Amino acid sequence: MRELMIGRRGLLGGALAAGAMTTFGAKAAILGGTAEKRLAFRNVHTNDTVDARFWGANGWDAQGLAELNHGLRDWRNNEQTNMDPALMLLISRIRDTLGVAPQTKVELISGYRSPETNSALRARGGEHTGVASKSQHMLGKASDIHMPGIALDRLHAAALSMQAGGVGYYPRDGFVHVDTGRVRHWG
Ligand SMILES: [Zn+2]
Repeated sequence: MRELMIGRRGLLGGALAAGAMTTFGAKAAILGGTAEKRLAFRNVHTNDTVDARFWGANGWDAQGLAELNHGLRDWRNNEQTNMDPALMLLISRIRDTLGVAPQTKVELISGYRSPETNSALRARGGEHTGVASKSQHMLGKASDIHMPGIALDRLHAAALSMQAGGVGYYPRDGFVHVDTGRVRHWG
């Protein structure tokens, strides 16, 4: 249960203090309550934007997650996959930690990568072809992002502080890679 790992220390205490809870109630409390959670992106290559609610009073919002799947599609060939909802939660937490407003569009350099695109990028070489990170993009568990108005080193520090997955630092390319794989970091 990856969501259990995100911010567990702060939220679990509150959940336990609330006494008897349903399974959903406990899960909702761990995720941060029943308040809605949103995420907005702008793809820097296509300028496409998406702004969707991925969590609400009834839990994960399937419609919103579908919109985010589309927004984070492989922009080179428009293939999409089911992105890991925990990645949306992780990015929203990083954003909130930095004091960035929920409606702010996170700049998306790369989300899902189809096998075709991944092969092409590997053949070309250059930036961000590391073995550890590429599979997470292909699994729908990774994004390369930049937060508007936030220095990249601050975004990097916020991502590391989550201790929730992989973090790669690409200052020359102007982005931070975050994924929901095992906790590790590079760059
Ligand atoms: Zn990446």
